[in-house]
Amino acid sequence: MAKDDLSGNPFYLLFHQAPVGYLVLDNIGLIRGANETFCRMVDQERDQLIGRSLAEYVSGVERGIFLARYRALFRNPAGQNLETFIQSARRSTFYAHLQGVRINTLLPCWQVDNRSLLLLAVTDLTEHKRAEERLRLAATVFETSTESIMITDSHGIIKAVNGAFTKTMGYELREIIGQNPRIFKSGRMPTEYYARLWRTLIEVGYWEGEIWNRRKNGKIYQEWLTITAVQDSEGQNVEYVAIFSDITRRRLSTEEIYYQAHYDSLTRLPNRNLLLERLGQAIQQNEREPRKFALLFIDLDHFKKVNETLGLIAGDRLLQETAQRLFGCVRISDTVARQMGDEFAVLLWDIERSTDAAQAAAKILAALDQPFDLDDQSAHVSASIGITLFPDDGWERAQLFRNADLAMHRAKEAGRNTFQFFEPAMTEAVLARRTLETDFRHALEHHDEFMLFLQPIINLNDRRISGFEVLSRWRRRGNELVPPDRFIPLAEESGLIHDFSRWMLIEACRWLAAFKTEALHPNLAVNLSSRQIPNRLSLDWLDATLAEYQLSPIDLTLEITEGVLLADSPATRTWLAEARQRGFRISLDDFGTGYSSLAYLKNFPLDRIKIDKSFIHDIENRTLDQALVRAILAMTGELGLEVVAEGIETNSQLLLLQEMGCSYGQGYGIAPPMPAPNVIGWVRSFTQ
Ligand code: C2E
Ligand code: MG
Ligand code: MG
Repeated sequence: MAKDDLSGNPFYLLFHQAPVGYLVLDNIGLIRGANETFCRMVDQERDQLIGRSLAEYVSGVERGIFLARYRALFRNPAGQNLETFIQSARRSTFYAHLQGVRINTLLPCWQVDNRSLLLLAVTDLTEHKRAEERLRLAATVFETSTESIMITDSHGIIKAVNGAFTKTMGYELREIIGQNPRIFKSGRMPTEYYARLWRTLIEVGYWEGEIWNRRKNGKIYQEWLTITAVQDSEGQNVEYVAIFSDITRRRLSTEEIYYQAHYDSLTRLPNRNLLLERLGQAIQQNEREPRKFALLFIDLDHFKKVNETLGLIAGDRLLQETAQRLFGCVRISDTVARQMGDEFAVLLWDIERSTDAAQAAAKILAALDQPFDLDDQSAHVSASIGITLFPDDGWERAQLFRNADLAMHRAKEAGRNTFQFFEPAMTEAVLARRTLETDFRHALEHHDEFMLFLQPIINLNDRRISGFEVLSRWRRRGNELVPPDRFIPLAEESGLIHDFSRWMLIEACRWLAAFKTEALHPNLAVNLSSRQIPNRLSLDWLDATLAEYQLSPIDLTLEITEGVLLADSPATRTWLAEARQRGFRISLDDFGTGYSSLAYLKNFPLDRIKIDKSFIHDIENRTLDQALVRAILAMTGELGLEVVAEGIETNSQLLLLQEMGCSYGQGYGIAPPMPAPNVIGWVRSFTQ
């Protein structure tokens, strides 16, 4: 280290070992002298420092303006100081506070042209600066926080609060400082609660929880409070910082959200979600203490009609009233829920036997069977109920739901206003039906699995061919032959009957046209479903389709069933009358089954009736069947109607019917239904 002339001076040590750095600088900032402390601060030997500009040690951005600021300090150092970042040789920076005094010295080592110099004290303020920054930040957070903050001393006396606090509580700052937070007490919290709070704070240094407090205006509200103890170096709690947010509103909306997600707004009953939740809980509880319970699905019968005839408001009222009645039928601990639309559900807890569930179901049926008084209108609905039992029928929620649903549909099929218990066989039947329906839809889209079979109808007197009945066949997935008795009801229930029937009618026309080219002109009798008449089968469409194949209505006989006549609506009569007017022949199928009112024959515009095969198949041996057939023949003879006997299997049946005066016949004994392409060959051999 280079010695300077101070080395022999008693103040030498004091200069070099001082806790601050000292620099001797000239008017342009060149370093003329430096103490050891400064050398350490910038990690440089003194020799390397001397003669360099202090500006070289100023870090980055500040360097440009440093010299100007230095000159100002040099000119007038008294009472002035300069702060800047200084960079050491190792490129670490510190925040330096520079304060100077002018010295006029004759010491030769510093003396330069007799000019005065500046003695600069350099203090490292980095730590101080950081602390200041932290404080500034803390103050900003404290003031701008939307959460209320309160600081108390160790005795709980309030030392400071922020703006959010005064705003929330409605107090002025001066009204609060020096007070005890007791003034905010709501009286809602038990004393024990506060005692526990303080105990936790003292032992752990931290507490958080919900608390009810009172604002200046007297209103109480709920807050989420966090208190942290601030300790001094000896570990004593000197202050407490309490931070809280008002959760009254948040709590309210969480409750609202929960309500909307779990309850039905119309009836205020639990909805399907909550029902599922409760069902899940019940199943879980069962693991601890076994119990039996029942799930009931309740569907109102003909509710749609109420909506359609009395309006939606009346419909809503009826649903609300239903909820009330259901409540009246169960125990307070049971759950009544609305699933959707007119579907309700009941969970009956802790039943002992299945008969308990049956009793409840019967009670519900009776309650719902009473007329509903909807303002000045009265409505009547009944219900269909499906019941499944836990644990007998299943252990899973989804399974129990499925069971109850299946059983409920069974109750509907059984004629409504009744209840049904779930039986395992229902699942199989439903599954089988579902795949059948899927396959049917598929077949309907591709049309390659359906076929027409035709069965001759002959005149029993002269044995000539009168026509053919069209009987549809479905070769499911290309092999199994499904009879129409299985797929027609399915098509009717699923609404696919209309598409299917259109296909069948077009196909019948196609074959009629094909027969014509072979000089055959048979009449084809097609079967129509009662669902198609009067609204779903357009006579205009039928006419147009026939015309496309150069055919006319006279080529077709429309076979209808009693179901069509049973409704006896003016629209049905109009449809039938119009069909006949256009030239279609109308035939009443399966006569003798069902109601078979002879009045039909008189009242409806018919051309022909078909005596059901159940009267024919043992007619030789049954005198009662003979008497019935004779009566029908007498009646139809009076009315001028044609009669076809179905299901003639033997020659003796044929002869007997001919002798009785029945004009037409159809059956295996004459010819079984045959694939349409076989018809021409059959006709040729029959007429030879
Ligand atoms: P249906 O209209 O009464 O047809 C007569 C049924 O008796 C046919 O049954 C026929 O095969 C059967 N049959 C004919 N001769 C005899 C016999 O000597 N003895 C016995 N025991 N039965 C005989 P299939 O073809 O199974 O049709 C059943 C029912 O399905 C039909 O009864 C008809 O109501 C309906 N159906 C058939 N095809 C269609 C269709 O395309 N559309 C509609 N809507 N229904 C159809
Ligand atoms: Mg028929
Ligand atoms: Mg029939």
